[in-house]
Amino acid sequence: MVGVLVFAMGASIGSFINVVADRLPRGRSLVKPRSACDSCGTPLSNAELIPILSYIALRGRCRHCSVGIPIRVLAVEIATAILFIGLYLQHGLSGEFVVLAVAMAFLLAIAAIDFDRQLILNSMTFPAVVVALAMAAFWPELGFDRTFFGLGSNWASFVNSLLSGLGAFLVFMGIAIASRQGMGWGDVKLVLVLGFLLGYPAILVSLWLGVVSGGVVAVTLWATGLRGRKDVIPFGVFLAGGAIAGLFLLGWITSRYQQHGIEGFLL
Ligand SMILES: [Zn+2]
Repeated sequence: MVGVLVFAMGASIGSFINVVADRLPRGRSLVKPRSACDSCGTPLSNAELIPILSYIALRGRCRHCSVGIPIRVLAVEIATAILFIGLYLQHGLSGEFVVLAVAMAFLLAIAAIDFDRQLILNSMTFPAVVVALAMAAFWPELGFDRTFFGLGSNWASFVNSLLSGLGAFLVFMGIAIASRQGMGWGDVKLVLVLGFLLGYPAILVSLWLGVVSGGVVAVTLWATGLRGRKDVIPFGVFLAGGAIAGLFLLGWITSRYQQHGIEGFLL
């Protein structure tokens, strides 16, 4: 029963993430006016505001002008609902659940906007840098102890996040310069957030997953001719995806690192 409520809550937050992804890049208010069809402007009825089900009932089309609703809308709602259920099964309704759910919702919004517009907004990454660093010291309170060069646990956690963020930032800055913007500055700022958020060694696992999955998709798109060499691949989608996986595996990564050190993650 609680599971159903968590799923519904996830789908609703997914629906809000879609509103953020539609409106934030255009500088529009997130609360007003009521959601409407992008094409004909008809406001959505109350029934049409129900996530997932309304998309299926409408078969992905506006009831008025039958213009297609982007599949991203459905994908984000389902993804958020599934992620929330996964977190609930792992952590129950706890502090860990809330913190990880907020972080994942943020990452999904980043991914949705990058997917649509090949853009990562400073108005999202800049506040996130501050929040992620501010909470870095408190991961041990959530049960994720991040030992680091023998420092006490809260300090260790903070220093761990600080160095992980700056390290990831410098590496990706190097890639951005070397690739002549093949990797954008938005991605570079995003990995600063991810390092602060995940800390070592979870940041390495996350970036590895993001870079490999993004690379595989990019090469596949080029090889099949679906995208040209010059086309921009929204790399932030994959970086955000890798980070979501890292947050899911955080408990496993933390305990494996404490048992085996970094060797525990070598293939
Ligand atoms: Zn319409």
